[in-house]
Amino acid sequence: MLQSVRSPKGSDVERDRLRHEADRRLDLPFEVYEEVQGEVSHCQVCDLLATAPSESVVYVSNLWTATLGYDVPGWILVMANRHSDDWTWGLSDHEASTLGPLMRRLGAAAKAEAGAECVYIMGFGEQNRHFHFMLLTRSASMAADLRGAGLLENAPRLANRNQALRVGSRIRDRLAALS
Ligand SMILES: [Zn+2]
Repeated sequence: MLQSVRSPKGSDVERDRLRHEADRRLDLPFEVYEEVQGEVSHCQVCDLLATAPSESVVYVSNLWTATLGYDVPGWILVMANRHSDDWTWGLSDHEASTLGPLMRRLGAAAKAEAGAECVYIMGFGEQNRHFHFMLLTRSASMAADLRGAGLLENAPRLANRNQALRVGSRIRDRLAALS
C-alpha cells in the first residue's frame, strides 16, 4: 500500500517541497541519514512513490516503478510498488518472477540510451526495507579509480538534471516501444 504524504490541498508548492525533501533524504548516504534522522518513522520509498514528478518516471507497471536516480544521466531507481518491510525475501511470487525480466529490460534501455559501457546493480536495504535498487550506468571514459561501488559516491558530481531528464525520456520511449 502506498502512503500518501501530500497535503489535503495537494498544492504544487507542497508537492515540490515534499519532492525536494525526499530527494534530499535519498541523496544522503545511508549511514549519514541514520545519524541525522535517528529513528526512521516512515518509509522513504513510499514517500518517493507518492511524490515523484511524472517527468522523472521512466517506467510504471502494476508491480514496479522506475524513476531517475540522483539526477545522474542514465541512473535509474527501481522500486516495488507494494510496501514490504522484508526486502528481497518479502517479494511476492509475482514480483520475484517479474524482477529478472524487468532488470534486463531496464538495464538494456539505460545502457543504450546513456551510451554506457556497463550497468551496475546496487541495493542495500539498510534504512528502507521496502525493496528498491539502483541501476548505475558507467561510461567507457570513467576513470579507473571511480569504477565499482565508489561510483555512487560521485553522484553529486555526475548529476545533471536536464541531461538526466533527456536520457530518461529516451529510456521511457524505448521501453514503451517494446511493450
Ligand atoms: Zn514503503
